[in-house]
Amino acid sequence: MTIFSKIIRGEIPSHKVYEDEHVFAFLDISPLSRGHALVIPKEEKATLDELSDESAAAIGRVLPRICRAVMRATGATAYNVLQNNGAAAHQAVYHVHFHIIPKTADGRGLGIDWKSGKLEPDAGRDLAARIAELLAAGD
Ligand code: 5GP
Repeated sequence: MTIFSKIIRGEIPSHKVYEDEHVFAFLDISPLSRGHALVIPKEEKATLDELSDESAAAIGRVLPRICRAVMRATGATAYNVLQNNGAAAHQAVYHVHFHIIPKTADGRGLGIDWKSGKLEPDAGRDLAARIAELLAAGD
């Protein structure tokens, strides 16, 4: 169990913005910008790939709505949705969470160091086929 389960249960205070049967959302305690919010499933899973279809669907249904409200409340017109999985990917709290991070007029928000590579056609074909195969097998 992580600190987020305690937040869901109200044992640790938070600035809640949304709650339903499967989903809870609240303001991040160390915001990158004004309005930085976290959307989490009530289901206690560490990473997104472990999440049930039911929780995933519930988050998918409300995430755009919460984004709209955060944007309207802050006046921001751009934002990032960030979802970290694993320490190497900057995850600190091992309960699935989606960050909504407004890009505000003062320039605050998510900084991205995007070092892109090149997808070689043969490698791309093989990799896509392997992923599709795993998906078809129900993984
Ligand atoms: P991660 O790096 O795991 O994707 O991000 C975890 C986020 O949870 C961080 O942005 C951090 O500020 C936030 N956080 C950690 N503990 C608390 C807390 O007790 N309350 C709130 N509201 N946010 C928290």
